[in-house]
Amino acid sequence: MPTYTAPIRDFQFLIDHYLDLDTHADIPGFSEARALAPALLEESAKLCEEVLQPLNRIGDMQGLKLEHGRVITPEGFKQAYQTYIDGGWPTLTWPTEFGGQDMPEFLNMPMLEMVCSANLSFGLTPGLTHGAISLLLKHAARDLQETYLPNMISGKWSGVMCLTEPTAGTDLGLVKTKAEPQADGSYSISGTKIFISSGDQDMSENIIHLVLARLPDAPSGTKGISLFLCPKFMVPGGEQNAFSVGSIEHKMGIHASPTCVMNYDGAKGWLVGEANRGLSAMFTMMNAARLYVGVQGLGVAEAAYQNALSYARDRLQGRALTGAAHPQKPADPITVHPDVRRMLYTMRAFTEGGRALVMETALMADIAHRHPDSAAREAADDWVQLITPIMKSYLTDGGFETASTAMQCFGGYGYIEEYGAAQYLRDARIAMIYEGTNGIQAMDLVGRKLPFETGRYASRFFHPLDAFIGAHAGDAAMAEFIKPLSKHAKVLQQATMWIGAHGAVNPNDAGAGAVEYLRCFALVVFAFIWAKQAKLALALHDQDPAFYDAKLTTARFYFDKILPGTFSLLASITAGSKSTMAGEL
Ligand SMILES: Cc1cc2nc3c(=O)[nH]c(=O)nc-3n(C[C@H](O)[C@H](O)[C@H](O)COP(=O)(O)OP(=O)(O)OC[C@H]3O[C@@H](n4cnc5c(N)ncnc54)[C@H](O)[C@@H]3O)c2cc1C
Repeated sequence: MPTYTAPIRDFQFLIDHYLDLDTHADIPGFSEARALAPALLEESAKLCEEVLQPLNRIGDMQGLKLEHGRVITPEGFKQAYQTYIDGGWPTLTWPTEFGGQDMPEFLNMPMLEMVCSANLSFGLTPGLTHGAISLLLKHAARDLQETYLPNMISGKWSGVMCLTEPTAGTDLGLVKTKAEPQADGSYSISGTKIFISSGDQDMSENIIHLVLARLPDAPSGTKGISLFLCPKFMVPGGEQNAFSVGSIEHKMGIHASPTCVMNYDGAKGWLVGEANRGLSAMFTMMNAARLYVGVQGLGVAEAAYQNALSYARDRLQGRALTGAAHPQKPADPITVHPDVRRMLYTMRAFTEGGRALVMETALMADIAHRHPDSAAREAADDWVQLITPIMKSYLTDGGFETASTAMQCFGGYGYIEEYGAAQYLRDARIAMIYEGTNGIQAMDLVGRKLPFETGRYASRFFHPLDAFIGAHAGDAAMAEFIKPLSKHAKVLQQATMWIGAHGAVNPNDAGAGAVEYLRCFALVVFAFIWAKQAKLALALHDQDPAFYDAKLTTARFYFDKILPGTFSLLASITAGSKSTMAGEL
């Protein structure tokens, strides 16, 4: 049976040192958050390890039922959700005026990751509600906010996003669902949505659907889509709204997450934001959601890695290439084999690097939201804009790759369901597809984020990177990290210039290399992160030698074995689109 232990020590390192919170102590809420962190880490670990993790396999095996039009979640999920909301967890980051605690996002991220490690299916319902709340806070009229936000923030009600239709997936300009204005100021919504996560469930008391639909006179395409709020149960009144679950999809993974076909048959809804501007409002939710989906990849990877590591320590097979390491045993543990070590360090470099990226991005989002100085807010927001597609895509690709590598460490046992490695692999796969496929994230990076104001977003990454390299140029202890960092940053700059120059002439050149470019960018982002972690490990080493030795070992592995991937990616990017676009498919 798989187990999970929350990586509290690593989170505490990031909060105490990596985020450099001393330089931001005057930002509202930061000092309080820092003081609260140790207790919060302990409490969230307890909930995830003791309540959510034991339900993960139950959820996978039992799946969901549709009874009398109602989705029934697996045994224990409803009680676990109640425990989660009783603990006040959903309220952490939201404004106090609606019942929140107004804490920064960086304090929320550890809990998000832990929930995804412990039970991804469970995590989807609060995760989507989080995105729905951020949308309503930004775009809904005051009366809608007052009616819905307090109960959504407490977790009593959940929120879901309803975009996809049978013929409208990536291309939401094809949405057909209709919205007819009514005399009372509401709208009547009719149409079918598919793949709606948590479209129905029995854990929250009400479910607030945010639905994309077209008004009668709307222009075609993306400029004619509006956004509507449709509660499952009317507020006030409690009558059931005119929508229903058509079916629950049978999926490869996340078996305890209800992915629903939803039929809206004249459902009552209210316009959110301006008419015909629904897609841009929905993007508020999607941006928050994309960061969260990145955390899903990371969370599953962490759980898969932990189980592979503990299995590898116990599994005795073969002897070390240099002679028996444990001659008294019938064989050595497989951790002596270079290939198994490669797999374990690859996973660790991903999870610890990814965790630092998530925490840093959360901090940037907090600065963008809370800093008193508008220039600082803008700079931090630029960074979040740039990193969002990278984080969504690289962390979810890496989540699946890590789950697959973890399975490989188990050998044949990994393929047998009881060991849990198979569930992590199945669960991790979806995160590469939803919230904008990873291919679309790459197009977002090369098509929107790079060209924005002639490289304004990209400069928010390259300038601090150059400054860091410059500041450590004469630091002998850091040379083993700074030299490759500088070398591979140049590779990324070369790739960036190539994409910029060739993409402007032939967009297919940018499109054909976009996924490789995003990966190349991510490798350098991770290199920067690992160099900063290495610097801290060198400085703080004597405080906790075992922890910081492990950091340095993983950093060295990253620089030696993973970062050189930029060379092959550059070769692929600069090969352009000729062979890709040739021939008939
Ligand atoms: C389990 C699950 C849960 C989901 N939850 C929700 C939910 O809660 N709410 C919701 O609204 N939707 C949800 N979805 C839908 C999900 O967001 C879509 O499946 C996803 O956006 C892709 O759309 P599609 O499946 O129609 O694929 P398509 O859009 O048909 O894409 C097929 C392939 O073509 C590529 N492609 C398409 N267009 C382009 C382009 N312009 N450039 C380059 N490549 C392109 C894609 O990257 C992909 O590889 C969920 C899906 C699943 C499976």
